[in-house]
Amino acid sequence: MYDLSGKVALVTGAGSGIGKASAMKLAQAGAMVVVMSRTAEEVEQTAHEIEAQGGKAQAKTADTSDDEAMRALIAGIILDHKRLDIVVANAGINGVWAPIESLKPDEWDQTIKVNLRGTYLTIHHAVPHLVAAGGGSIIVMSSINGTRTFTTPGASAYSVTKAGQVALVQQLALELGDRRIRINAICPGAIESEISDNTEQRGKEETEVPVEFPEGDIPLTGGKSGEAEDVADAVLFLASDASRHITGTPLWIDGGQSLLR
Ligand code: NAD
Repeated sequence: MYDLSGKVALVTGAGSGIGKASAMKLAQAGAMVVVMSRTAEEVEQTAHEIEAQGGKAQAKTADTSDDEAMRALIAGIILDHKRLDIVVANAGINGVWAPIESLKPDEWDQTIKVNLRGTYLTIHHAVPHLVAAGGGSIIVMSSINGTRTFTTPGASAYSVTKAGQVALVQQLALELGDRRIRINAICPGAIESEISDNTEQRGKEETEVPVEFPEGDIPLTGGKSGEAEDVADAVLFLASDASRHITGTPLWIDGGQSLLR
């Protein structure tokens, strides 16, 4: 059911967290996985771990918001591997979480640039090659924020990008359907990763809406965050033919967290 042999996959932001776990799963199912992020050491490590498990991987560095870099990345994949079948548009940042009055225009722009422009560029450059391969699967890493949850203090720019990603997925599901390209969104809740190390949060007290939960805010786990592998299993499903009739669909993977928050 999850045989991806002969397929070529691109995972952006594959240096840590959800992207890394997804790349490992796709490789375990037999895909050749191009693991990309803006930091060489982390993607080289991911590729090394995939190869150590007997999988096939290639590490590439690019900034997902850079048009020329993304064009060159995808042209390089076609040169080296002749095809592209699966695209996981995962690279993203939390950016700055701050009250709207103090959130600076540059901070707003940076979050939009990496998360939304980056997703657009990944898909924009990949689609002609998915068409050439006779179809494919695109998976966009959104969030519960901006889709079901609006209580994360100061996360206005972030939430806008994550809502925008789901809108893009639904719009493109129709546009790309007749070319047999499926596109879906995954909306994770709190997942253990490196993302909070790269988050700047200001004025939390000013923007926080007080809500009290009886037993932690993730019903399935009593408050414990999910693991990157919980999301990666769904990436594998959406990449494979097991999800052949699913497109334009957001899938929340959050242990029920977004139903509370
Ligand atoms: P992470 O910080 O562990 O990993 C992010 C990866 O993306 C890293 O490899 C990083 O180098 C890369 N990256 C960041 N900016 C980039 C850029 N401009 N160009 C190329 N690569 C870039 O984060 P994560 O938690 O695994 O997040 C992955 C995705 O999942 C993000 O889109 C995030 O919004 C989403 N998400 C995460 C959570 C969570 O709780 N961890 C929840 C909901 C959604």
